[in-house]
Amino acid sequence: MTSCIFCKIVEGTIPGEKVYEDDHVIAFMDIMPVTKGHVLLIPKTHRENVYELTEEEAANLFKAAPKIANALKEEFQPSGMNLLQNNGSFAGQSVYHFHMHLIPRYDKTDGLKVEFNTKVEQFPMDVVSELATNISRRLQE
Ligand code: 5GP
Ligand code: ZN
Repeated sequence: MTSCIFCKIVEGTIPGEKVYEDDHVIAFMDIMPVTKGHVLLIPKTHRENVYELTEEEAANLFKAAPKIANALKEEFQPSGMNLLQNNGSFAGQSVYHFHMHLIPRYDKTDGLKVEFNTKVEQFPMDVVSELATNISRRLQE
């Protein structure tokens, strides 16, 4: 028996307001929606976070994302849409089964505040360039 709440939703042992399902993923309503139409998209296979996803699992998730986003857009006519995905408690993850939030946005006073606190001087372009070199080196390994 799994203790993962989202695996239980996949198995149907606890209820979930499902909006989409295929062989690889399901999407269901968030139990504590931050805005009207807040949906979670998850792989059916238990994966804790983005680091654990295979390329195929990631592709299956993103294959479904535009379909669900378009259904939300058509249904609710939001002003915008955030796709949000947290990895690790420091980043705000509270359920340790990979999930992507699809959050329709309506106005500045709705339930979500996403803000970049950009400090330009912190990362001068020569530093950014070095960071890019180091990251891309890892991606070629
Ligand atoms: P996180 O903070 O991990 O990115 O997001 C977890 C999300 O899962 C939260 O938005 C929370 O409301 C939602 N959630 C937690 N438990 C349940 C549940 O049992 N059912 C559903 N549908 N959503 C849940
Ligand atoms: Zn799980």
